[in-house]
Amino acid sequence: MRILLLEMTKVQEYKQCKRCVLDTTSNTIDFDENGICNYCHAFDRQLTKFITIDPQLRKRNLDEMVNYIKLCGENKKYDCILGLSGGVDSTYMAYMAKKLGLRPMAVHFDNGWNSELAVKNIENIVSKLELDLITYVINWEEFKEMQLAYLKASVVDIEVPTDQLIFAALHKIAVQNGIKFILSGSNIVTEYGMPSDWAYRNKSDQTNLLNIYKAFGRGKTLTTLPKFDLFKKFAYQSLHGIQTLALLNYIDFNKAEVKKLITKELNWRDYGGKHYESIFTRFYQGYILPVKFNVDKRKAHLSALICSGQITKEEAIAELEEETYDPILQREDKEFVKKKFDLTELEFQDILKRTRVEHEFYGVENESAFSFITYKAIMALPVWGVTNWRRLRNKLKR
Ligand SMILES: [Zn+2]
Repeated sequence: MRILLLEMTKVQEYKQCKRCVLDTTSNTIDFDENGICNYCHAFDRQLTKFITIDPQLRKRNLDEMVNYIKLCGENKKYDCILGLSGGVDSTYMAYMAKKLGLRPMAVHFDNGWNSELAVKNIENIVSKLELDLITYVINWEEFKEMQLAYLKASVVDIEVPTDQLIFAALHKIAVQNGIKFILSGSNIVTEYGMPSDWAYRNKSDQTNLLNIYKAFGRGKTLTTLPKFDLFKKFAYQSLHGIQTLALLNYIDFNKAEVKKLITKELNWRDYGGKHYESIFTRFYQGYILPVKFNVDKRKAHLSALICSGQITKEEAIAELEEETYDPILQREDKEFVKKKFDLTELEFQDILKRTRVEHEFYGVENESAFSFITYKAIMALPVWGVTNWRRLRNKLKR
């Protein structure tokens, strides 16, 4: 079998984008004749599509989306569902959903790594916004095995299990409650432009996830983690008609202003870093990624803010000169992570020293597989039926 190791042939001289702070620590960066990187260009395309469009058209798009959610959710307790981590993006999304008159059900995914501050923030958000909250507590023993498998597999994106299982849980709960819309906190202004070699592009690839688990887990079958394979995804989207909407791309999102707003309105307190509401994410982004993979995700987060005009490049450079986070806390987190995973210092160092392996090496989801194509063909008629019935019902409501 061929090992897809990091492409070592593409060694290039250190270079940083003239506009943002992304640089040649990513193997997928390219520069135009003016020294502007491919991620800046991609960002601008997204910006013109969603953010810098005619304000009236943008408002109309938002109104149409919100009205459609309300229409489909008529006579139901909830008209949408959202994941609430307690971070800036999901907190602002919950705030705006309520302000727009939606009736969201909030779901918090507890994977065992919540910081105390995250718990406090979530309590405040839920109480101030009068939200109904479901806390989806994952089976820690199974989840621990999964995260450990990812660490041992030496792949770059150790957050895939969390991201995928949140999405799977949201779909599952949406179906149980007859909800058709998942509001996603993904957004352009604070997130877009993550280099493709710094995260796995297909976060919902369950084949990759299960293969990594099989290769490095202790051989136990997963019994409690929510399933999210191609068949499930197809059923959720086509049969149940569940749609995922990135609400934050339809409204103004200035990060500094939003932090002030949620602090004032919801008693929210800052974590000091993006996604630092989770202790594991804080340690992964602030320690494992820089030490093992030479990846500093702050470069992408700050570049998104530069490209959307919210901070200057100088401010971003000054921030990058600081430690990823407090070194004392880093040491404490390291001990905590080792203890939670039952790893000795030697075992942990061994994980850090292993060479990077690409996710694709473990096999990826195949939408052209015969079984899936056949399933889609068999389901074509029922899907046509429910889609048209849904359309007709909404037309009659109008
Ligand atoms: Zn750039």
